[in-house]
Amino acid sequence: MTNQDKLFATDEELLEEAGRRAEALRREIEHHTYLYYALDKPEISDAAFDSLMRELRQLEAQYPQLVTASSPTQRVGGYVGEQFAPVAHAQRMYSLDNAMDLEELAAWMGRIREDLGYLPELDCELKIDGSSIALTYDDGVLVRAATRGDGVTGEDVTANMRTVRDVPLRLRQEALGAIAAPSLELRGEVYMPKASFERLNAIAEANGKAPFANPRNAAAGSLRQKDPKVTEKRDLATFLYAIGDDGALNVEGQFQLLEWLREAGFHVNPDVMLAKSANEVLEFCQKVQEKRGSLPYDIDGVVVKVNSFALQRQLGFTARAPRWAIAFKFPPEEKTTLLSDITVQVGRTGVLTPVAELEPVAVAGSTVARATLHNLDEVHRKDVRVGDTVIVRKAGDVIPEVLGPVLSLRPEGAEPWQMPATCPSCGSPVIHEEGEVAYRCISLECPAQQQERLAHWVSRGAMDVDGMGDEIIGRLVETGRVSDVADFYTLSADELELLDMGRVSKDGKPIRLGRKMAEKLALALEASKGRPLARVLFGLGIRHVGKTTAEQITATFPSMEALQAASEEELAQVEGVGPIVAHSIYLFLRTPANGEVIERLGRAGVSLADAAPGEGEGLPQCLAGMTFVLTGSLVQSGMTRDEAGEALKARGAKVSGSVSKKTSFVVAGEAAGSKYDKAVALGVPVLDEAALLRILETNEPPVVA
Ligand code: AMP
Repeated sequence: MTNQDKLFATDEELLEEAGRRAEALRREIEHHTYLYYALDKPEISDAAFDSLMRELRQLEAQYPQLVTASSPTQRVGGYVGEQFAPVAHAQRMYSLDNAMDLEELAAWMGRIREDLGYLPELDCELKIDGSSIALTYDDGVLVRAATRGDGVTGEDVTANMRTVRDVPLRLRQEALGAIAAPSLELRGEVYMPKASFERLNAIAEANGKAPFANPRNAAAGSLRQKDPKVTEKRDLATFLYAIGDDGALNVEGQFQLLEWLREAGFHVNPDVMLAKSANEVLEFCQKVQEKRGSLPYDIDGVVVKVNSFALQRQLGFTARAPRWAIAFKFPPEEKTTLLSDITVQVGRTGVLTPVAELEPVAVAGSTVARATLHNLDEVHRKDVRVGDTVIVRKAGDVIPEVLGPVLSLRPEGAEPWQMPATCPSCGSPVIHEEGEVAYRCISLECPAQQQERLAHWVSRGAMDVDGMGDEIIGRLVETGRVSDVADFYTLSADELELLDMGRVSKDGKPIRLGRKMAEKLALALEASKGRPLARVLFGLGIRHVGKTTAEQITATFPSMEALQAASEEELAQVEGVGPIVAHSIYLFLRTPANGEVIERLGRAGVSLADAAPGEGEGLPQCLAGMTFVLTGSLVQSGMTRDEAGEALKARGAKVSGSVSKKTSFVVAGEAAGSKYDKAVALGVPVLDEAALLRILETNEPPVVA
């Protein structure tokens, strides 16, 4: 109906038109909700989606008679009241039998094989660690949501479940054809994603409220809120995986049911497999266990189900659980053990880190005997004391963590732990600055040098590894990953990403470096491999070898090999290198440990020889044989002297730090100093910045008047 038509339409016609539009909008909104939640493939932006919702809301406000219970605008309803009404489940909601290890799982498959005479197809799914939920749809419309309760009677949580965005308020039309009964009870798990859980607890902490122990409790608690508006904010999600009465749907098995659920608009977990053999089942379990930590939600095992509904019926139930399904539970991730001592590690930056020494205990498949306690604040916050029985946790591949003490088992007289007053490594007094978490040893004799050497290597004038700051180096050293400059080149982006930054977030989680920074560093390290030899030489931090000296040396000895072969006398003949410097270089290069580091640098791909002039540079070597000295600041171009020097060298020039008779040209920028005076005194031609820029633009040697 055009606006023109609307002018002449009757009220009935207008209402009819609005009804058509509202229904079209609902279908469209449902379709995009389906794409977003069930398929994880949104096609329109959040803003466009909101705009559709807004139009529907406006229409419904204008014509309240058009509002339906299943309209996407009707997710949040009124108060639940004091109690949740009891709901009798049409079919009992059973629990599952458990297999505590792979052997028990194999034994269960053996029993199935015995009962049926063969091993049928088995559907393998993740066991989502949330709260069970039963959703009833009458004629395709959500009418009730209930918790499991005792399996026979649950609680009515419809108003709250309606606020969960991935629960369709009505089923997609495409899926209705397979329904064989007026009412369907569909089941699944309502859970809280790890990220939402962390956010929720951070807010609780900020408000001085007790945090939830885990995402499962948080999900169950959020589901039982009196006010659905609170539930709505909790960011719950669902995975559907079951049907109360499989006779109500024309599908033959579990795997097909999951497909239908997805088709009907539900969020269905993508990690499913239809296994054809016991081996495939065991492999699935192992694979899931490995990736458990990287999933955005908690799981506590794998559920294996006989796929065919006909066979399920044949196998039946025990009093408690179906015979046709089993839950393979992951080994526990938390154990208790004795905290036998708290020792202190001195990092290369001088920071003292308390470490929990534990009675060795097997947690999630590996033995844990030590765990960092990060800092004194952390020790006090967790209130762990020597002699305590503590809870140790290890989730997936994650580093072990001491969660806290079992207070009732604390031995009498256990004292709060304190930092030692002196450094356990060198005995100097420990410093603690106000406002700082860290306790430090600042003695020069404590091995802090290592850190400094590494920092020098990556610095601007040396290898210029952009982003490799002191904090990151400190962590690389403290974690034992990098102890000399060659170790830098063994780091991958994947490893850097997980680097524990030695700090904890508000909710007690270790802060890691992260992907973006890791990739940046990996690139910067890669780029640094191609720096000129002078940078390498300077970066090694040889005593008395500054930047200019390094450049003078490599101009004569353009490869590390040539340098290593040079005698002290030969080195001393280089302009700007006296006997002291020559001796220092010679000694450094002849020290076996240093030779080894240099060799490893070479093997890692760090360039240890300069290209011969003109080689591979692509620039005309118009300045070959000329020596330049730069002084003052280059204000016109904004180039640093280093950059200008590199540009000249790229054209074949040598660049020196001091003016002598051998100097061909001095380039004098703004506020040039004594080098300018010396050039004038020696009769060396002086170029201004404009002349320099002309060289770089034209690639022609300077013209001297
Ligand atoms: P339990 O509570 O340990 O007896 O385990 C049974 C519960 O596991 C069921 O009531 C479900 O809530 C839950 N569960 C989680 N994921 C699944 C799944 N994929 N299939 C069946 N049950 C599951």
